Amino acid sequence: MKPHTDIAILGGGCAGLSLAVALSRAAPHLRVHVLEERTRYVRDRTWCYWNSEPHLFESCVSHFWSRWRVSVDGRSVVRQSSRYRYEHIPADRFYDYAQTCIKNAPNQALTLGARVTSVSGNRIETEQGSILARHVFDSRPGPRVLPENALVQRFTGWHVRTHSACFDPSTVDLMDFQPLSAAGRSTFFYVLPFSENEALVEVTYLDSVSLPLADAEAELERRLGGGFEILFRESACLPMHSVHAPPGSIGTYGGRVKPSSGYAFLRIQRQSRFLAEALARGAALPSHYEPRFYGALDCVFLEALRNNLSNAPSYFVPLFERVPPDTLVRFLSETGTLAEAIPVVRALPQRPFLEAAFRLGDFMVLRLMVFALFVGAACLLSMTPVLVAATFAAILIAVWHGAYDGVLAKPLLEKRFGSAWAQTFAIGYLLLAAAMVLIWFVSPRLALPAFLLYSAWHFGTESQTGQLKSASAATGFCLGAIPIAAACHWHPPEVTAIFTALLRGQQPFAGGVASLAGHLLWPAVLVAGAGRIGLLPLIALELILFRQCNPLLAFGVFFCVWHAPEHLLSSAQDRCGQFSLPLLWRQLRSGVVPWLISIAALGLAVTRGAPYASALFIMLSALTVPHMALNELRRKLVS
Ligand SMILES: Cc1cc2nc3c(=O)[nH]c(=O)nc-3n(C[C@H](O)[C@H](O)[C@H](O)COP(=O)(O)OP(=O)(O)OC[C@H]3O[C@@H](n4cnc5c(N)ncnc54)[C@H](O)[C@@H]3O)c2cc1C
Repeated sequence: MKPHTDIAILGGGCAGLSLAVALSRAAPHLRVHVLEERTRYVRDRTWCYWNSEPHLFESCVSHFWSRWRVSVDGRSVVRQSSRYRYEHIPADRFYDYAQTCIKNAPNQALTLGARVTSVSGNRIETEQGSILARHVFDSRPGPRVLPENALVQRFTGWHVRTHSACFDPSTVDLMDFQPLSAAGRSTFFYVLPFSENEALVEVTYLDSVSLPLADAEAELERRLGGGFEILFRESACLPMHSVHAPPGSIGTYGGRVKPSSGYAFLRIQRQSRFLAEALARGAALPSHYEPRFYGALDCVFLEALRNNLSNAPSYFVPLFERVPPDTLVRFLSETGTLAEAIPVVRALPQRPFLEAAFRLGDFMVLRLMVFALFVGAACLLSMTPVLVAATFAAILIAVWHGAYDGVLAKPLLEKRFGSAWAQTFAIGYLLLAAAMVLIWFVSPRLALPAFLLYSAWHFGTESQTGQLKSASAATGFCLGAIPIAAACHWHPPEVTAIFTALLRGQQPFAGGVASLAGHLLWPAVLVAGAGRIGLLPLIALELILFRQCNPLLAFGVFFCVWHAPEHLLSSAQDRCGQFSLPLLWRQLRSGVVPWLISIAALGLAVTRGAPYASALFIMLSALTVPHMALNELRRKLVS
């Protein structure tokens, strides 16, 4: 069926109209149809931004300021720029201008009162009928599912006219921080002074809970103190977290609100321009519009803010105080270079931001650094006595990671079994381990491959946070298979000897399993690396480690320096998924007794010789099965 239009734009708000206007300039030959639910446009909001780049709505600017101020505890920082202005566009001017542009464009149409009810591929259903389009761009608000503990910016504003002169029209108050509320909410006033007795005054809250409108209005009343009339009201709730933008989504729905500031107008103009230019050329549509480092910096900033909202003034005020105004404007508008981000980063308090950066990646960078250190040491020193001693020391840490399984099981089992949770846990755990020992004895040929496969799954899916968050099961499994496959790939004789001991002498079968696993190394690397590019540093370190070192040593380093700490970190998370040092400490203490027993058994095995060692190996591997099963259960219940 022939499409009715080239481009359908769903929702004629800021993003929808901006895209239509950009298309009227860049691609006037394309047929564009905007479908808007409301029946008429009224002034429903105002847009402000720094004019750091040109856009198509410059004629709609009604006011601008070259000075701005941020204040906290009676201390104010005033900055000004001769290059950039803080500009204001009232929505009614914007809507009028956009409607005129669309009316004047021969190939464009805007239908008001057209509520889109569903979209299926390129087919759009409205209450008036269906439309087929070659491209669909959707700006309708998506489902409002806030991530747990999500931070939002809520504001309520009044455009007021006061009876007496009480505003300074030369300077915008961007943030006038108020003392922290009892609820831990960060509050600031925002004042756009149009004249001495006319201004838009807004109260803004940064928090994760909703606040009744009446409370915000009471704050505005308090601030203004009476003697004014309200000309216009606006309020909003803007996300302060990164939004997953479905393909074809634009505007707020397309993640265009900058999470750390709530500004979207310029980002929407940028998106409209890029899309219109690509459509005009028939080129592939762009997937991002700002340099990616801004996204990363935003994440760290928000993580630090979320961790301690009371610190908000101490994060925002130094930015205005210490960073040259033009540099800061470019940074906030995401038009600056990476080099210009350096003074911004330096102006911020270092400790909370470093902590936030480490927390964000589940300490990924720090852990990779430690792992790299150990890989380097293992490769350099190979099997010297120093390294053997170091490996044993590390094993003491690694044993710990399974030693507090009981602590982790408690909250899961207590709900169901009450005070009998401990017996239930111990019996279940030991029965599972005993079953595994039995399988080792009855059918080692079955036990070995099953154990290897389950271990690969466990290593790969242990942390469903950080780099592996939302990765596919195949990516997780292949990542976990790499240490096993790498040992088999580069050290078949040594691995075959270990497998043969486990299989009680069945050498050909052990060799077959080792050879098969070795062949799977590169496919596993390919699937894991392609599934999540961010895993490449870890994969590279694992490959170097197993290529260069004896397999037992390499596995020891992997297990003790990577896997065990990963488990410790992922299980020491509070209910909001935040790493908690007190929780880690509590868990480490609770693991002391089982750990001492494990170490004693290990010591016995090491001093008594090979038969004990092989029995211990089987027992340890049997114990890892309930450990892995428990971890799996915990992960499922938590998610
Ligand atoms: C009060 C307020 C003040 C703001 N101030 C600023 C600011 O100063 N600076 C800044 O940079 N950003 C600001 N923002 C953020 C951002 O710029 C705006 O939210 C902007 O309007 C987002 O554009 P949008 O097109 O995504 O959403 P909208 O402008 O809300 O447009 C969405 C459109 O979709 C329509 N629609 C919804 N459902 C349907 C349907 N089923 N069928 C058809 N149409 C539908 C709606 O009627 C609406 O017109 C502000 C936001 C608000 C709410």
